[in-house]
Amino acid sequence: MKSTIVLLGPPGSGKGTQGEKLSEELGYVRLSTGDMLREAVRNQTELGKKAKEFMDAGALVPNDLIIGLMKEKIAQAKGGVILDGFPRTVEQADALAEQLDVDLALNLDVDDEELITRLTKRRSCPQCNAVYHLVYNAPKTEGVCDKCGSALYQRDDDKEETVRNRLKVYRENTMPLIDYYGGKGTLVTIKGVGSIDDIFAQVKKVVE
Ligand code: AMP
Repeated sequence: MKSTIVLLGPPGSGKGTQGEKLSEELGYVRLSTGDMLREAVRNQTELGKKAKEFMDAGALVPNDLIIGLMKEKIAQAKGGVILDGFPRTVEQADALAEQLDVDLALNLDVDDEELITRLTKRRSCPQCNAVYHLVYNAPKTEGVCDKCGSALYQRDDDKEETVRNRLKVYRENTMPLIDYYGGKGTLVTIKGVGSIDDIFAQVKKVVE
């Protein structure tokens, strides 16, 4: 089994959903920079205060804040790790390469129109970070998390205008990582459309 996996792909491509399933079924430690940053914002830590304005605008949080945070979390993690939302720039990828070898960069490919519908109809759990879609993956009770019972919310950055900016930021800053990992021979691209379980079956084949 691959021990260090980077999940690539635009916002809304299913990195969180597939990463969570890999962690539940195959025991990986999933490290999501987005989840960590949202928690820091909620707890109003120094990092959270610095990150908030960038996140609200759909922009990237500066590399120096993210690289330090991830270095520490990766060093603490035991066993296989899945990096969800990191790296998002070539500078972050270079910093990661200094710390460990990436065995697999799994790229989930989804087109823009689909991403916009997914993100604007996404609802998230502030407590356990589970995600739902109002149409394709609705919670059993409207507005309530199936997993932990907390009230679901719409992330501020899932509103349409911010979503468009996030997609632009993705194209400019993160898409170059497809060539970056392609050049290292670790890239696998999977079409991220279809049912969650069908996509997961393909993901598992690549990981195992
Ligand atoms: P996500 O939940 O992965 O969509 O991340 C939400 C937001 O957190 C992004 O739009 C960025 O503002 C910020 N963020 C998450 N990961 C990174 C990263 N690796 N580098 C810079 N900003 C990040």
